[in-house]
Amino acid sequence: MLPSIYNPSEPFTIGLLGGGQLAKMTAQEAYKMGIRVAVIEHGADSPAGFMTKKEFSGGWKNSADLEAFIQASDIITLENEFIDPDILDVIAERRLVFPTPDTMRLVQDKFIQKQTFSASGIPTPHFAEISTKQDLVDFGTKHGYPFVAKTRKFGYDGYGNATIKRDTEIDMVWRRFMEGEDPRPLLAESFVTFTKELAVMVARNKRGEIAVYPCVQTIQQGHICVTVLAPAPIETALQKRAQDIAVACVETINGVGVFGIEMFLTADDDIVFNEIAPRPHNSGHYTIEACYTSQFENCIRAVTNLPLGSAEMRVPAACMINLLGERTGSGIPDSVIEMLKVDDVALHLYGKKDVRMGRKMGHLTATGATVDDAFQRASLALNRFVW
Ligand code: ADP
Repeated sequence: MLPSIYNPSEPFTIGLLGGGQLAKMTAQEAYKMGIRVAVIEHGADSPAGFMTKKEFSGGWKNSADLEAFIQASDIITLENEFIDPDILDVIAERRLVFPTPDTMRLVQDKFIQKQTFSASGIPTPHFAEISTKQDLVDFGTKHGYPFVAKTRKFGYDGYGNATIKRDTEIDMVWRRFMEGEDPRPLLAESFVTFTKELAVMVARNKRGEIAVYPCVQTIQQGHICVTVLAPAPIETALQKRAQDIAVACVETINGVGVFGIEMFLTADDDIVFNEIAPRPHNSGHYTIEACYTSQFENCIRAVTNLPLGSAEMRVPAACMINLLGERTGSGIPDSVIEMLKVDDVALHLYGKKDVRMGRKMGHLTATGATVDDAFQRASLALNRFVW
């Protein structure tokens, strides 16, 4: 039976595997709801770790810390999809874990993701499992160039992807991923010539209730999401189709928790699935200011099997821009004073000790009457942010 947070005999504690910004923003919502938080992370004073007395800084590979974390938690969720599912199995013997270890096994492998979703009728690019160098050659012959080779597991921010423009590049890509000390199995997929990248967040609880957020446009630079426009500036019918695909993905895997589904929109108005993240997602940060219930609150409601809150926007439009590191050194910015003078812009700084080039240090969200208006003000605020 699920523990209830309505009649707890003890204060209810949600355990977070990972202590980064996603855990921090989940913790902020938990505290708002009267729930306590335990955090396990490799290293002390992580963004979420420093918010709680129940911080376990030895990480989940340290069995004493893992044990203490399990003891401290009534229910467990995660912010990081790269946790070994065998460790999740160990945890799941003692506490409810959402998303479940089986969901995590499926989602961790991009080939299995695509196989699962394509079998249930969700549109994906052409894709294939790659076991030999010849499989890459055959994929290029069958589906044409360019195509994308991706590591099946542990890819993030584009690390693990290689676009192959002609057959002479296959050797190099094979060597890069498969001939090192630690070979990384691949899948291949057709290159999608997209006009926009879209994302939809979906929350689902154990009872199968669903809250689907608006379809947003994500804009990447160097494979890192930098800007999110909500709602996506596309026709309503396309927004709805993207939402339907996202819901179908989560229902296909019986997912419990909150999920970010990334898709491509093509010039022919096709919407094609790219990948699913089994956790709060950068494309959903705007929901804190712009929706009735944020993705983080609905994550907590979903994993504790509470009724989900409305995912509707309470403002006409929003724009989120990531604050990426532009230097190395202290994570404290030099000045935020001028940017705070821009109306209707919320600043989030994650409290990371050190900044590195491109590291996600925080974000800002502007709300407004139109997407363009929100984008203009978010951009103005960004330009006034001084590292
Ligand atoms: P990661 O898991 O590292 O974020 P993704 O598979 O989402 O990797 O790819 C990162 C980015 O690379 C995407 O946001 C998109 O811009 C581009 N990309 C990925 N797959 C394709 C594809 N099949 N066709 C065209 N571009 C792609």
